[in-house]
Amino acid sequence: MSVAQILRDTPKTLFSFELLPPLKGRSIEDIYRAIDPLIEFNPLNINITYHCPETVYEALPDGSFSKRIVRKRPGSVALAAAIKFKYKVNVIPHVLCAGFTKDQIEDMLIDLNFLEMNDILLLRGDAPKGQRYFIPEPGGHAHTVDLVKQVMAMNQGVYFGKATTSVQTHFSAGVAGYPEKHAEAPNMTADLEHLKEKVDAGAEYIITQLFFDNSKYFSFVEQCRAIGITVPIVAGLKPLTLLTDYLQLPQVFHIDMPQDLISALKSCKTNADVKQVGIEWSVEQSKELIKSGVPALHYYTLGVSDNVKKILETVF
Ligand code: FAD
Repeated sequence: MSVAQILRDTPKTLFSFELLPPLKGRSIEDIYRAIDPLIEFNPLNINITYHCPETVYEALPDGSFSKRIVRKRPGSVALAAAIKFKYKVNVIPHVLCAGFTKDQIEDMLIDLNFLEMNDILLLRGDAPKGQRYFIPEPGGHAHTVDLVKQVMAMNQGVYFGKATTSVQTHFSAGVAGYPEKHAEAPNMTADLEHLKEKVDAGAEYIITQLFFDNSKYFSFVEQCRAIGITVPIVAGLKPLTLLTDYLQLPQVFHIDMPQDLISALKSCKTNADVKQVGIEWSVEQSKELIKSGVPALHYYTLGVSDNVKKILETVF
């Protein structure tokens, strides 16, 4: 059964979490160590992020620079498959527009289909570091809605640039939503319209960007429902772990932090203090969201799971 179907059919709140592939050269065991403490809580699924290649400039002895295109976290598809088969859990690999032509995306989708990885999360990806705007690959997609359409076409046996009908895939896709608006959207209404386009094109659920103020999520769901978005909306939560989080997260994710949370963070002296505040804040957020009947809570772990374990012990 697809993750989307389970979300639709299950009355109680479920939970999922997201992991990053290991940095190049690190072991898959690092990932298993992050999963092991959480698996006993029966996650609905585990998401595996995808990371675009980055341009790296290296200084040469003659003072010039060499340019290399490097993938710092390769192996997303293989990692997703390894986790699925080791833990017998639903795994959702992320599939991006960024850095890919439509043909390359199709090839990745064929790999996923062969591996029977039918649950996928479709995303655009961000502009690379140092670049102000997202520029699609020549022959790639500018917006996720077009990626959703490509996937749905494959589900009908229509492959890119192929005249005859091919094997039908069985993908069930989710997409991202932004309770505090996507950074590039001119306003919330425009952003919600684009979100609705993704759902109308075939996306079966939404996972939200992380938020620290539940009222933003409640208002987002209300606005989605008002314009006819009826799919499950999974709530994205990030348990804080670092002293730098309160400066970095708002910048990177374009989100607000409630003043109460800032005050609690200001009294923290170490990362361990922040982790404790993060656990307490996430527990309160989770409890309120569960009470309101959210379909699922999605924890952005970034590979740290001892704190998520404590949260799950308290709220589930
Ligand atoms: P889109 O839906 O394409 O929207 C991007 C912007 O374009 C929005 O402002 C939207 O309003 C606008 N827009 C959409 N359609 C149109 C249109 N037709 N015309 C004009 N404007 C339009 N990034 C990664 O690199 N790897 C990951 O693994 C990853 N995982 C993520 C998981 C989640 C749950 C979330 C919330 C984000 C994730 N991201 C990831 C980040 C994501 O790639 C960025 O937020 C990206 O900037 C937007 O992706 P999107 O799919 O929402 O894009």
